[in-house]
Amino acid sequence: MALSQYIDMHVHTTASDGQYKPEQIVAMAAKLGLGGVAVTDHDTTAGIAEARAAAIKHNIRFLPGIEISTVADGLDIHVLGYFTRNDDEKWQQRLGKLGATREARNELLINKLNELGISVTLDEVVAVSGDQGSIGRPHVAEVLIAKGIVETKQQAFDEYLGEGGKAFVQPRRIHPTEAFQWIRDAGGVCVLAHPGIYHNETLVEQLLAAKPDGVEVMHSDHTPEQITRYIELADRFGLIKTAGSDFHGASDDGSSFHGGLGSVTADLSVYDQLVALHQQRAVSFKKKSTDEE
Ligand SMILES: [Zn+2]
Ligand SMILES: [Zn+2]
Repeated sequence: MALSQYIDMHVHTTASDGQYKPEQIVAMAAKLGLGGVAVTDHDTTAGIAEARAAAIKHNIRFLPGIEISTVADGLDIHVLGYFTRNDDEKWQQRLGKLGATREARNELLINKLNELGISVTLDEVVAVSGDQGSIGRPHVAEVLIAKGIVETKQQAFDEYLGEGGKAFVQPRRIHPTEAFQWIRDAGGVCVLAHPGIYHNETLVEQLLAAKPDGVEVMHSDHTPEQITRYIELADRFGLIKTAGSDFHGASDDGSSFHGGLGSVTADLSVYDQLVALHQQRAVSFKKKSTDEE
């Protein structure tokens, strides 16, 4: 089937830890012949305006999103938010707090590496991140590779930066259900990201029972068995079933960190479901603001 019927609903840009600028991502998606593409950067909507403008130019559907980092049961849980009102002051204030948490985490992580006898400075990490986005662990991984401490990003995460790694820092974060509420407060649609990578099915069921609007059933790191299971759970809880590659860019060996752009996609009808829900919510959002006046 033609790719023009499909949309990749989970993609990162240089506004967070992706390799390509928002406009490049949109151009690449259009070149692949995708029907649509999302931008879902970590804890920021900074790349949305640029991507939206590019999508108009390339005549491709654009799904504005964000991926919020949260914590539950000590696990790093991601929540995707689509169609939030990014000019909403309260929403941006809340995101600002997450950005501050991210910075504090980077500093802690670098301190831990230094304690392990690995000399890395924040300036070095900032230098590889480029000037556009927020800095994150993949940038630290690049510095570790450049210094010959590890060979690949995967190794950097396994040994140092990921959960269980020697320099892992658990940042202070909000609970996933709080992120659901933040996204809804901003008129958006909330989706539990990649449930398969948490390896805690009890928790996943609890979070889905708390009724986000959707769940990312298909993701680059999900096995076919997991996909089947999450489709069942989505149906049980009446949730929208989304899909995305989680593309960040190519690794040094040419392979993609999670998956290639457009390698995991949803039918455009899923995009339409999100639009419909967003429009319902926009009506109540408007009503609420008028009531408050
Ligand atoms: Zn994620
Ligand atoms: Zn992601």
